[in-house]
Amino acid sequence: MTTTLIRNAAAIVTGQRGAASRSAGPDIRIRGNFIEAIGQLTPEPGERVVDATDCVVYPAWVNTHHHLFQSLIKGDAHGLDLPLTAWLAATPYRFRAAFDEGLFRTAVRIGLLELALSGCGTVADHNYLYYPGMPFDSSAILFEEAERMGLRMVLCRGGATKVRQLEAELPQALRPESLDAFLGDVQRLTKLYHDASPNAMRRVVMAPTTPPYSMAPAELVECARTARSLGLRLHSHLSETVGYQDSVHSMHGMSPVRFVAEHEWLGSDVWFAHLVKLDAEEIALLGSTGTGIAHCPQSNGRLGSGIAPILALQAAGVPISMGVDGAASNEAADMISEVHAAWLMQRAAAGERNQPVYRGGQGEGESTAVSADDVVAWGTSGGAKVLGLDAIGTLAPSMAADIALYALDDPRYFGLHDVAVGPVASGGRPGLKGLWVNGQRVVEDDVLRGVDVGELRSEARGAVRRLMVG
Ligand SMILES: [Zn+2]
Repeated sequence: MTTTLIRNAAAIVTGQRGAASRSAGPDIRIRGNFIEAIGQLTPEPGERVVDATDCVVYPAWVNTHHHLFQSLIKGDAHGLDLPLTAWLAATPYRFRAAFDEGLFRTAVRIGLLELALSGCGTVADHNYLYYPGMPFDSSAILFEEAERMGLRMVLCRGGATKVRQLEAELPQALRPESLDAFLGDVQRLTKLYHDASPNAMRRVVMAPTTPPYSMAPAELVECARTARSLGLRLHSHLSETVGYQDSVHSMHGMSPVRFVAEHEWLGSDVWFAHLVKLDAEEIALLGSTGTGIAHCPQSNGRLGSGIAPILALQAAGVPISMGVDGAASNEAADMISEVHAAWLMQRAAAGERNQPVYRGGQGEGESTAVSADDVVAWGTSGGAKVLGLDAIGTLAPSMAADIALYALDDPRYFGLHDVAVGPVASGGRPGLKGLWVNGQRVVEDDVLRGVDVGELRSEARGAVRRLMVG
């Protein structure tokens, strides 16, 4: 079996915390799908050697919440400055029915390429483009395109059995499915694609779009039970805004987390996107059940939703991961800008809680703020934990070889005392000298195999013209 030696890295960030967050390296050997060794290694005869001088090594990022189809509805003027509910109507809902097989595939390719070039190896896509009599298989396209690019795909099978408008008024592509059709398709996808192994390239997750709106309460329970009987995880959106709190309170007389708790939707096999607005009881419930979060700070900022209380969630025991969310509410849907924003916004939020000493506060030095290493851990090992992909997210011998190698050749990275923090602290898009996923090199010097960027760009231009004409 051929091996690859990544040699002489300036720094190796492991995805773990504290003293374990760095490895002295400076070399990493990949054998087959796995990391065989990290240390001072001597090249073997016939081995491929990649010179990593002046480069930094990270675990490939794990993105735990996305809607790839939105990669063709970025920066829509009708929704650009609106809050969540108005934006949902103005942008994703308005364009959803226009997506045919060609537009969907183009959007998926754009989103996956952007992620891969940021050093992301695993994408959990919360896809909700499903309707009765749909003429193309959006699930198959997600798996096909991820496979073509060499990335891991976790399909979070979204959808709804109810909508708020009268069904008769809706175009076919916005109509709800029956629960039988929804669950039947989850079973079909599980048989076709789901791999339970810790090193899986393909996973399926039960993920009705939004628990209080997408299904009747009894159906949510049936979904949870079916998922667990099939060995699938559960994922959805929850508690994104104060409007969400108000509406669940008026429908059910309780908080959103209490609502999902009563319908068997908490546990270490569940993670929710957003969790921006939470009361103390909800944080405790999420923590005591080990329910995870996909933290999406750029989307939450773009939509004016707020800043999720990550430090309180982390202290309560909630596994923290990072998601970019759909590009219709995050025109920078790559993992580097997302972790850069998380680092700044969580530190700013901690500062907002500070009070001066003369008013009984603890001054500026006392607030607990996140470190750059925390943010890396959320985006790597934290993502692996919420997805249950135990072989990825950490750089160590016997883990899967999911590795990002950054060149840091842009002037923004010159002058760093600790080059390891460059991608998180400086942001931008560091040159990607290499991306390995499951031991396969999928990116070489910023080029992803099998993708013609010029062609994709002109496809995107044509697609946007079609969408804007309607
Ligand atoms: Zn979302």
